[in-house]
Formats: sequence, C-alpha cells, structure tokens
Amino acid sequence: LNRPNIVILGAGYGGIMTASKLQKKLSADDANITLVNKHSYHYQTTWLHENAAGTLHHDRTRMEVNSVIDTNKINFVQEAVTGIDPENKKVSLENGELSYDYLVIGLGFEAATFGIQGLLENAFTINDINSARLIRQHIEYNFAKYNNEKDKKQERLNLVVGGAGFTGIEFVGELANRVPELCKEYDVPRENVRIINVEAAPTALPGFDPELVEYAMNSLEARGVEFKIGAMIKEVTADKLVYEQDEEIEEVPTNTVVWAAGVRGNKLVEDAGFESNRGRTPVREDLRPNGYDDVFIVGDCALVMNEETERPYPPTAQIAIQEAEHTAENMKRIVQGNDHLEPFTPNIQGTVASLGNNDAMGVIFDDKKIYGWSATAMKKIIDNRYLLKLGGVGLVLKKGKLNFFK
Ligand code: FAD
Repeated sequence: LNRPNIVILGAGYGGIMTASKLQKKLSADDANITLVNKHSYHYQTTWLHENAAGTLHHDRTRMEVNSVIDTNKINFVQEAVTGIDPENKKVSLENGELSYDYLVIGLGFEAATFGIQGLLENAFTINDINSARLIRQHIEYNFAKYNNEKDKKQERLNLVVGGAGFTGIEFVGELANRVPELCKEYDVPRENVRIINVEAAPTALPGFDPELVEYAMNSLEARGVEFKIGAMIKEVTADKLVYEQDEEIEEVPTNTVVWAAGVRGNKLVEDAGFESNRGRTPVREDLRPNGYDDVFIVGDCALVMNEETERPYPPTAQIAIQEAEHTAENMKRIVQGNDHLEPFTPNIQGTVASLGNNDAMGVIFDDKKIYGWSATAMKKIIDNRYLLKLGGVGLVLKKGKLNFFK
C-alpha cells in the first residue's frame, strides 16, 4: 500500500511524454502520479514561431492536457510552480504545496538575454502560446496603425529578429510568408516593409553545414529577408535597435524586436539549488542531477554532454522526448524495486529547419542533406510522429500537419 508519490513538473514535450509513458508502464496501484502545469493545455513549442508570425492559429498548436493523459492514472494539477525544495522533497505552487518521493522536472526554457541593454524590457520572445499571440497581435496592430497616422512611422514596418540560429531562421521564414498577406490586408506597399535578421556570429545558423546555410539564406533573401551577420546587438529601446557591425554603430528604427538568440533552463531549477551551467543543470547518465537520487531532469532544463564533441547537446524537442521516454522506463524500474537504471544516450535522427513557403532544409540519418519540398515533408512527418506517440491516430487527424503541399 506504500505507493510512491511521483510528481512531474511541466507538461511540455519532456513532462507530458514522461506522464504518457508512465501511465502505460505503471498501474494506478503502483504509484500516485501527479502532473503539474501552468496551463490547462499542452502546446507544441516547435510550432510557436508560426503562431507568432500569424501563419498558424495557436489553437492548432495546443491541446487540453486532459485529452491526452489518462486521468484515472494521472492526477493533473493546473497550477504554476513557484519553487522546488529538494532537501524537503516539496514543490510550492501558486496556491499550495506538493510532496514527492520522486520528482521529474520538465519546466522548459526561458530567454537568455546576456545583459543586453533594454532587451528584456523592449524585445519580444517566443516562449509560449501567450507570448506568441502577443507578437502576432503587435505586428498586426502596427500594420493597422501605419495608415492611420499622418506622419507614417517606418518603425512600425521594420520587423527585426535577433539571432539567426534555428529558431530565428524558422521565424523569419514565417514572417516572409506572412508579410505579403499583411500588406494586402492593411493596404501597405510590400516595399515599405523590412524583415531584418541580426546575428552576432560570423555566419547564420552556426553549427550547420555551410551548404545548408547558403541554401537557407538564398531562399530567405529571395523572399525579402535582410541579413546583418557579424552584427552585435548593443541596445533595444521602444523604437529602435542599435547594433555594431564592422566596428560601426548602426541603428534601425523599429518597435518590433523579437529575440530568438538564446535560451536557458527555467530559473526555478537554478533557484532550487541544483548545479547550473549557463542556466542548465548537468545531469548524470541516468538524467539525475548530482547529489539527488530522487530527482530526474528532462528537456531544456537538463544539460547532457556529448562525449564525442565534448560539448552539451543543444536543447531540442527531439532530445526532450527521448529523455522523457527514458525516464519513464527508469522510474518504472525504481517503482518495481529494481535499482539498476539505464544510462541515457540521445539518438539524433536529424535536424530539419523550416524556411516557410513550403521550403526547408536539414540533415537526416547522420549526414544526408535534404532541401525544399522533401525537407518540408520530412518536418511534417517528424511532427506527426510525435502526435502519434502522444495521442494515437486520432490526435494526428485532429492536430497533425496533413497537407503536404501547403
Ligand atoms: P517545453 O516544451 O517548453 O515545456 C515546458 C512546459 O513547462 C510548458 O508546458 C510550460 O507551460 C510549463 N511551465 C513552465 N514554467 C512553469 C511553471 N512555473 N509552472 C508550471 N508549468 C510551467 N526543437 C526541435 O527538436 N525541433 C524543432 O524544430 C524546434 N523548433 C523550435 C522552434 C521554436 C520557435 C522554439 C522556441 C523552439 C524550438 N525547438 C525545436 C526547441 C524545443 O521546442 C525545446 O527544446 C523543447 O520545447 C523543450 O522541451 P521541454 O519539455 O523542456 O520544454
């Protein structure tokens, strides 16, 4: 009758997949499982840039947690976590407290702003459904406002994205799709609108194969995206962005800066006293942080080293899902009294970035490069496969990306 209390924090990729796997592996008599999430819904973080640009409605991206977990086996608590106390095995919530025997932390990421002046106050970030919806509405408001002012303000039509990494590139691709529609809708000449992507590194998509980088930049430039590469953002105010390039200081008038150049793990994890390395917690090979055998960390809060490159694996949904499946298996072992936990090794099946306009590029099966429609189709297959794992064919039909020609 001594059923352990398993508490899972966050219903993102890591948290909800842990819950979904555990409900299949354990019976209600084996453990009390509680899943805590800020919202009543789970959302696909990897689609948020589409919601932010306005090319996909956010209701396509989210689904009620109760519709994908078995509430006979998992107790779902819709609450915001406000603190974790690993010494006393307690989690504080906005309205209450939970005790645990085993904890799985999947609280995701937050923006890392690297202390850039004014960024936190004046730039937007793509974090969740609410922040994505705000960006979409802010851009639409500025297009609507433009023709309603006597002195037309160029800053309303200059859309600046900080960072040409994976997220920044995917977002400008969606903006390049959306801007012509907005121009038609709000009677704005297309040539008056600028989409500017600012990147501090000497290349867009650092870490990607140069051929793929060139393909992506050509595709986006052809649709009107301007790149400022090797350009360091110095300051963001309510109506301009300042950057330094080739030792020159430049300014862009804009009231839309979207920061997509850095994430760190949820601050709650660091505040709980777990070790932190650039905002993520190093975990042992079974995904438990040093010194805590009753805590597992999955997803963007965890830092897993790639022994081959001696660098951390980048935070991705792909790894978060694999970590969750792995943790569910290890948790089953613990509950069944087996203390041999399996080590985790990511199985990177590929990386595909969308460029909007039915275009994409990436690498699959180790080193096969794919471009254009086949890459777009592959990206949709990856997304649909996740939905299939989470909620079966029904969920794919309801929320999947089934139109391979659009
Ligand atoms: P999340 O999926 O972000 O989930 C965290 C959950 O915790 C959320 O449900 C949130 O509401 C909840 N939460 C947060 N704080 C609290 C709190 N205090 N109390 C209660 N609940 C809380 N990765 C890929 O592999 N492929 C891609 O194509 C890709 N594209 C991306 C595109 C964009 C625009 C972005 C932003 C990221 C992309 N990523 C991609 C990265 C990927 O989305 C993340 O690595 C992944 O979401 C991490 O999963 P997670 O479970 O750690 O966090």
